[in-house]
Amino acid sequence: MLRINHLSVYHGDVQAISNLSLNVNRGEIVAIVGANGAGKTSLIRSVCGIYPPKSGEVWLNGQNITGMTSHDLATLGIGHVAEGRQVFGNLSVLDNLEVGGYASGNKNAIEQNLKRVFKMFPRLKERKSQSASTLSGGEQQMLAIGRCLMAEPSIIFFDEPSLGLAPVMVQEMFRIINALHSQGLTIVLVEQNVMVSLEVSDRAYVLENGTVALSGTGEELLNHEGVRQAYLGI
Ligand code: ATP
Repeated sequence: MLRINHLSVYHGDVQAISNLSLNVNRGEIVAIVGANGAGKTSLIRSVCGIYPPKSGEVWLNGQNITGMTSHDLATLGIGHVAEGRQVFGNLSVLDNLEVGGYASGNKNAIEQNLKRVFKMFPRLKERKSQSASTLSGGEQQMLAIGRCLMAEPSIIFFDEPSLGLAPVMVQEMFRIINALHSQGLTIVLVEQNVMVSLEVSDRAYVLENGTVALSGTGEELLNHEGVRQAYLGI
């Protein structure tokens, strides 16, 4: 479904991603793990249209999408739940969701998608008139996911969805990710919680210095000596 070929991304003179290649098959959960500064966020943001790559290509369903804007990528089915719950704090929950559906430009679709999001997140329905800044951290993360779903993505990139959440909300977040997966969505997951992300993923890539150092099934990497020592402290 998604193929990244020899991608390189720079921030000024700093090379964040170096000649990186990976692929994601339809219906998979693929985890991207790595130490701080390994390039996980730069990779996701580059694929999602925020940091244009310096070289390399990104293909989605046989279409070359390299360098497209995030708006165009959203219309092609790429969803991005950014690090740090990027909701519009001054807007109500409902307005935040409607902004997410705006790309479809279709009132009926927005209505249908709102129903779907409220069914998945009843808490958001209860708080639909409240301004987003007054939601708890976990609720804001739900809103960020709900807003992404409003654009009907077929693949979602999650950047650190459980960062800063209370343990019970972390569990809830992984339950939501599993639920989206079982609805047929393809998921790419960057998570600081390496153990859980390898447990839920079909396959995973370990990044080091902006490139793929290791890949395998979640289970293979959970049992890999180097991964256990470096990331799981076992
Ligand atoms: P973390 O887990 O700490 O969020 P990461 O694996 O997501 O790290 P990136 O944030 O992608 O890694 O950073 C990769 C490299 O690019 C790092 O060396 C970082 O310092 C650098 N970098 C990231 N963003 C910028 C920026 N906006 N300007 C300059 N350098 C940057």
